[in-house]
Amino acid sequence: SKSSLQGYAPICLGLEDFYVRRLYLRIQDCFNRPISSSPDAWFDLVERISNDNNKTLKRTTKVKRCLNLGSYNYLGFAAADEYCTPRAIETLKNFAPSSCSTRVDGGTTTLHVELEKCVANFLGKEAAIVFGMGYATNSAILPVLMGKGRLIISDSLNHNSIVNGARGSGATIRVFQHNTPSHLEKVLREQIAEGQPRTHRPWKKIMVVVEGIYSMEGELCQLPEIAYVYLDEAHSIGAVGKTGRGVCELLGVDTADVDIMMGTFTKSFGSCGGYIAGSKELIQYLKYTCPAHLYATSISPPAAEQIISSIKVVNGEDGSSRGAQKLAKIRENSNFFRSELQKMGFEVLGDNDSPVMPIMLYNPAKIPAFSRECLKRNVAVVTVAFPATPLLLARARICISAAHSREDLVKALEVMSEVGDMVGIKYFPAEPEKQ
Ligand code: PMP
Repeated sequence: SKSSLQGYAPICLGLEDFYVRRLYLRIQDCFNRPISSSPDAWFDLVERISNDNNKTLKRTTKVKRCLNLGSYNYLGFAAADEYCTPRAIETLKNFAPSSCSTRVDGGTTTLHVELEKCVANFLGKEAAIVFGMGYATNSAILPVLMGKGRLIISDSLNHNSIVNGARGSGATIRVFQHNTPSHLEKVLREQIAEGQPRTHRPWKKIMVVVEGIYSMEGELCQLPEIAYVYLDEAHSIGAVGKTGRGVCELLGVDTADVDIMMGTFTKSFGSCGGYIAGSKELIQYLKYTCPAHLYATSISPPAAEQIISSIKVVNGEDGSSRGAQKLAKIRENSNFFRSELQKMGFEVLGDNDSPVMPIMLYNPAKIPAFSRECLKRNVAVVTVAFPATPLLLARARICISAAHSREDLVKALEVMSEVGDMVGIKYFPAEPEKQ
């Protein structure tokens, strides 16, 4: 309730740890809630799992059907699909849930080979390599490509998997102001000048690491203004661009200008794993040196088939126009939802076309009320706070899907508006209704 939030202003900035621990005790039930269905436009959220009676350990669950505004199910492939699902099931029968082997020792099935070709073709790159986890793709690849004597210049809001990969690489890391090419240029010039007197030549390698759509901001990167890039397209591949090719297509950048393209299959393609696409030489090098390729079990075959099939749908190779319709729908849904939220007076971050829509709450103490009041009205939202965002920049992060109908979005807007008034997060005057 509103009153329970009073007196909880984050005034103890110097006491981050103490504050964050107390805050998390208060808001913990907003996180880690189990879901008991596929993460479609609507899903079943388990409100309570409890032991009815300690002797029998019988479990009771209370399940609530909610409008899902939180999953990265951008194209709606994270639910049964007429083309993908039968193929994934068939793969489960013919292969198994797991290859039980690393890629180099028997874990490369014909599906993995097909998947890597399919990803490289989709991205317009010579070759690709896939991994079982998007997070591990960043955290394992950066240490292979970079090391001592090399320089990583990283956007200040890059994802934690990039931060960990960069730190683990042993390279020197410099951070540039989020999405600000002029500051990147300044850092780059300083570093080149700094590298010279010490080594008589610049760094052995300099890599600029950016994201296609920033996961906590919803903004598109300033790609056309940056050179020599490692581009993480976790949230943009499949989700933006006329044919789903991501920010390069959307912003008119030739993929030949992006040296290392990284992305995940966990969002638009409704599966799991990550990829790196680039030149033949780069991928060949990674196949012999990357520990996550050499020592980790390969992507589950049904998951690989799900990716191949969903890319075929996006490309129209399933013989239907569903892919094009999904792409048009996510764009239309995202732009509609963003502009309606703005009209209501919310502060919404991010760019047009981006399906990631952070609504600023600022004060993290507003998280419990916002999350619970939405949930009471059967709308599930993801709230994000420190350490995923700066302490005083808490937000609700909406992810729009092609699976949402206009009715779903209108319902969500009604709920957002009501709860927004209640929690006091409409920071701008609402636009008057047009007659
Ligand atoms: N990169 C970015 C930008 C992300 O947002 C995420 C996860 N949301 C990842 C990488 C990790 O991907 P995955 O969840 O597929 O492991």
